[in-house]
Amino acid sequence: MEKEVLKKYIEAGKIAKSVLDYAEKLVLKEKCLSVLELAEKIEAKIFELGAEPAFPVNISINEIAAHFTPELHDKELVIKETDYVKIDVGVHIQGYIADTARTIRIAGEDELIICAREMLEEALKIARPGVEVSEIGKAISEVAESYGLKPIRNLTGHGLERYKLHTGISIPNVPFGKGVLEEDKAYAIEPFCTNGYGAIKDSDRATIFMVLEDRPLRNPAARKVLDLTRKYNGLPFAKRWLQKQIPQTTLELALKQLVEAKVIHAFYILKEVAHGNVAQFEHTVVFDGDKAIITTR
Ligand code: MN
Ligand code: MN
Repeated sequence: MEKEVLKKYIEAGKIAKSVLDYAEKLVLKEKCLSVLELAEKIEAKIFELGAEPAFPVNISINEIAAHFTPELHDKELVIKETDYVKIDVGVHIQGYIADTARTIRIAGEDELIICAREMLEEALKIARPGVEVSEIGKAISEVAESYGLKPIRNLTGHGLERYKLHTGISIPNVPFGKGVLEEDKAYAIEPFCTNGYGAIKDSDRATIFMVLEDRPLRNPAARKVLDLTRKYNGLPFAKRWLQKQIPQTTLELALKQLVEAKVIHAFYILKEVAHGNVAQFEHTVVFDGDKAIITTR
């Protein structure tokens, strides 16, 4: 891997880890129980440390597995002691991404959390260029089984490239799937564990979006959304970020039209199908040649 590129991946990883440490402290000290306040503080910290969010911070609680970030009006949403709070932070430096997540619970860790962390550790132990992704999925699912818990079969880790958050191969939580990890590439490995059924489904609400295709638009509000989000270079953005710049009803309508026209993609909030609790841990691993560097450790 090019020295300059590797340096940026490593720097992004360091910042993402610091931000997650900061977030964990805020939650555990119960000084920041409002999810909205927590999200705004986390994203401000990313900028403060000299990077940019690679996506809006995801703060997904209990049966919500992923893709939730608060909106500006989510003022009543607070973290409770026994909540499983998954904080998923994305940071980039000039497009080179670090993607990392932890599950935090004020009341203390239980087997669900311990299991999810172990799933990630076992996956990282065998993550090397040339390894079949199904082998990683096997290691992950065996840990879950040993605890009598379930891996989430329809969520996966993913390749990372410059300004591309989900690209290349998928790294499953179950022993299926084709493809091998490759030298000089970056990957996010993120097992999800549940005491529910072991799968997620889309809900009908989205608070995170991403531009798919930039094209000329007639509707002025839709055009404005596209203008305001061009600076994210195809990385996901929060509805919350736009709520500070566009009136709510105009924004809702513009987003709806843009999603229907397939100009932007909506990341629907993902919920465990049996309403089980979900725990997740994630690290970014970069291969310099065949040497593994966990940038977010
Ligand atoms: Mn993530
Ligand atoms: Mn990820």
